[in-house]
Amino acid sequence: MARFCLLKDPENYVLYDWDLVQDTESLAYWLAHFVDQFDQTLKCAGEKYGDEADCSERIEAARTHFRRILKHLELHPDSLPGGRLGVIDICRLREMVLRGHGLGDPFACLKARENRIALDGYMKTVSAYEKLSGREKWEALARGVFAGNLFDVGSPAGMDAPDMAPDFFQSIDNVKPRPWLFDGFDEFYQDASKPRGAWRKAVVFIDNAGSDFILGLMPLLKQLAAGGTSIVLAANELPSLNDLTEIEARACLDELMEMDPALDGMFEVVSSGNDLPLIDMTNVSDALNTAADGADLVIVEGMGRGVESNFHTAFNVDALHAAVLKDTQVTKHMGGELFDCIFKYTRADRG
Ligand code: MG
Repeated sequence: MARFCLLKDPENYVLYDWDLVQDTESLAYWLAHFVDQFDQTLKCAGEKYGDEADCSERIEAARTHFRRILKHLELHPDSLPGGRLGVIDICRLREMVLRGHGLGDPFACLKARENRIALDGYMKTVSAYEKLSGREKWEALARGVFAGNLFDVGSPAGMDAPDMAPDFFQSIDNVKPRPWLFDGFDEFYQDASKPRGAWRKAVVFIDNAGSDFILGLMPLLKQLAAGGTSIVLAANELPSLNDLTEIEARACLDELMEMDPALDGMFEVVSSGNDLPLIDMTNVSDALNTAADGADLVIVEGMGRGVESNFHTAFNVDALHAAVLKDTQVTKHMGGELFDCIFKYTRADRG
């Protein structure tokens, strides 16, 4: 594991700037959220692990264990090493409890189901984009990323997904109009639409399974690839929430390439080394750094990787942060409203 090689200032890297020890209102909010979200997680774990003899005992043991941890954090929020507490720390503890009780991939069935639905809708989606061109096409592709990113079981607005996953084709009509809360679309479009293609290689930190990756992100990446940009998909090493793992991303990509030969030869999948919905860019896999060699664009997709962590992370290449806000506290922290869209594009300082 190593620092991500495209970090501009690794010495001063800030993973998150929101310390819950200093913010009691947010602390109470997040602890309550994690209780509810964990119950939903365990409900899904029942679907995945239900055939195993001691499944319900493990689920109840995990529930008790995690609630005890949350209670401890409520009373002693500064008890972790370093004395700070971020959402990423609570996520890490949650994954530790799940893995410790043999429930490491509770959303496996949901991810598989949503991947199937999205794969079946992929050709229809990309054909719809083919009818568009120029700025209109790129803006539609960006809107698609936001529509797809609504599938997120880690957020309050997406927590019901196991019972009722958002419909991508309905969601796309409800994406907020521009200007978005952070809106670098014009600069991005200017660079992306250069006649000979703007970038040689993009490293893309992908987020959720299903419509997020397959219907939201992939059509945009296909468009980049059509302009000559080769794409490195950096996916989680281990499962966390409904995020795609490296293995799942590779399986999806294989199916997509079979349907859509235009993707052939332009994509590779690597493990980011990450096992959480947020990502610490100072602790990524060596494989990612090898694959990132020569990249001139970084895309960080999703609220966890790109807003709750790394929103201010500077890269020494062009960078796009794209996500839709699905949590009232994150929204408040960002100065926006629920379902606001983030399309933050930062050109590398070429001076
Ligand atoms: Mg996610």
